[in-house]
Order: sequence, then C-alpha cells, then structure tokens
Amino acid sequence: MRRPILAGNWKMNLTIAEATDFVRSIRRGLNEIKDVDRVLCPPYTALATVGELVSATEIEVGAQNMYWEEKGAYTGEIAPSMLKELCQYVILGHSERRAYFGETDEGVNRKIKAALAQGLKPIVCVGETEDQYDAGETEAVVSSQLRGGLTDLSAAQVAGLVIAYEPVWAIGTGKAATPAGAGAVIGMHIRGTISELYDESTAQAVRVQYGGSVKPSNVAEFMSHPDIDGALVGGASLKPDFVELVRIASEVASQIA
Ligand code: PEP
Repeated sequence: MRRPILAGNWKMNLTIAEATDFVRSIRRGLNEIKDVDRVLCPPYTALATVGELVSATEIEVGAQNMYWEEKGAYTGEIAPSMLKELCQYVILGHSERRAYFGETDEGVNRKIKAALAQGLKPIVCVGETEDQYDAGETEAVVSSQLRGGLTDLSAAQVAGLVIAYEPVWAIGTGKAATPAGAGAVIGMHIRGTISELYDESTAQAVRVQYGGSVKPSNVAEFMSHPDIDGALVGGASLKPDFVELVRIASEVASQIA
C-alpha cells in the first residue's frame, strides 16, 4: 500500500507574516486529517516560521528547490544541509524551474542525489509541454526526464522518491488533465519506465502524484485512479479550502484501501 501524499507548492507567494496567518488558519484542520501525508512548501524565507508553526502537528514542510553543492561560492543558492535543518521534503525539477531557470535532467539528477545524501525526501517533477502533448511526445518526454533524473540511483532510492506528474499545460491554467489521461501516463509511462530501469516492485513502490489545476472539486476523481497517489497543488494550496481538498483526498483514499 502506498500512503497518499498531498503537497502544497506555494511558489513565490506569502511573506512571513502572510504565511503565519495562513498556517494558523489551516493547521488544525489539516492536522486532523489522517492517513495521508500533508506537506506545505513555502518559499525559503518562510520555511523556518512554517516549520515552527506545524512543529506540534503531523504536517510536514518542504522547500521548492535547492542546489546540489554543500557549500562554497554559489551566491544566492541554498545547500541540502541548510534545508535539512528546516524541512523534510524538497521539490526538484519543477517545470517552472526547467522553463525559466534552465534546469536540466542532469542538474535534477545531481540535486536528487544531494538531497538523498542529506536525508531529504525529493518530490521529482516531470511532465510534457502543450506542444509536446499535441505532438504525441508525452511518453518520450516523461521517460527521458526520468532516465536522466534517476541516473545512477539505486532501486531502494527510487522506491523512496515521490514523483509528481505535472503536464505543463495543466499548471495554473485551470485546464486539468483527465484522471484517466493522467493515470495512464503515470501507470504506463512513469511506472513503466521505472519498471524497465529497475523492476516491477520498485515501480509499484514509488509514490506518484498528479499536479496541474487540482482543486477541491476535482481531487476525488484523481484520487480514485489506482495509479495516482496524491497531488502536488499550486494555486489551490494558497486558499483555506486546501484543507477541504486534502480531506476529500483522504476520504477517497480510505474508501479505496
Ligand atoms: C504546481 O505548481 O505544481 C501546480 C500544480 O500548480 P497549479 O495547481 O496551480 O496548477
């Protein structure tokens, strides 16, 4: 059984003061929901504050990026050991980082290894652009992002990852993938590639989220798909009804279990 995981990617939103108000407003409701992992991913600046605010709860915290080196002359970067003091998870290879900041599969691979070396849990994002989708390249894109990102990782390391399938055309657009479409990519292409690279038990062990315009009104459909183990949520994770979204996800997951 894979434990579902719901993560909120706040992106570049919320000051420390705003994050404090928001977390105070959702933490009790979020903490009461059982049987799913709940992760808040604020900007670096709010990690410590959010970590303190949820320290007496089961809610976990994640960063949205990091560098692969441990220290040195890398102005503006954050090392894995620095994050280890502040959070449990780190999102790596988000499509916005790939599109705007030149992240490559090789860089994502280095970051995954560096995160694992510090005991951080990576949430590794993959997904095709709209042009790639239209050209029928989804399988090729997702498979090559995984092959590059997972290079030289052991089966045990891969089994412990969280992978987020996020079609770029669905992120922040309100145009979510269909649960059947996302489930097929996850089941056939993501688990399929991991099965080819490793083995079927590794492919069945790894948790795979769907991300892209998930909201309270559509999360149940995604959670009903047997290959989808949760969601990476952007815009809807900044609203108070993120609690409702996670509650619905947990209820659907417990009905299926
Ligand atoms: C994301 O940024 O990872 C994301 C899925 O965003 P949204 O939910 O807003 O589409």
